Amino acid sequence: MDCIFCDIASKTAEAEIVFENDKYIAFLDINPINYGHTVVIPKTHYDNFLTIPSEELAELTKITQYLAGAVKRALKADGFNIVSNNGLSAGQSVFHFHYHIIPRYENDFFMKPRTLEYNDMEIPSYAEKIKEAVSKYEGLLNG
Ligand SMILES: [Zn+2]
Repeated sequence: MDCIFCDIASKTAEAEIVFENDKYIAFLDINPINYGHTVVIPKTHYDNFLTIPSEELAELTKITQYLAGAVKRALKADGFNIVSNNGLSAGQSVFHFHYHIIPRYENDFFMKPRTLEYNDMEIPSYAEKIKEAVSKYEGLLNG
């Protein structure tokens, strides 16, 4: 399989690594949104958020939390975004699950969120669709 993140994990591709243990690795994004933009991945290949086992997702999230604090302190950022793009339509470009840690500064103007408004008819129908899907997995959530 041709995967740049697998290559980085196996050291067959170069990256500026900022953290590594036996299962996870973090490195600088070569096309940063702000300098210090960091990518955190499991060394094992999983396509996306839905296919990584939940235990590994929990470990990866814990590491990402730690690294986000380090990035914020190291770069004197005012804040940061934790982003995971899943699927082409969401902007995923490497299909190996990863979190982005993007340091943010006052007035850096990046990614200004847009907001939409629901009309009264729409909001319950969106909620119903999601609740119906959630109910199918309730057994899983309740352990
Ligand atoms: Zn991979």
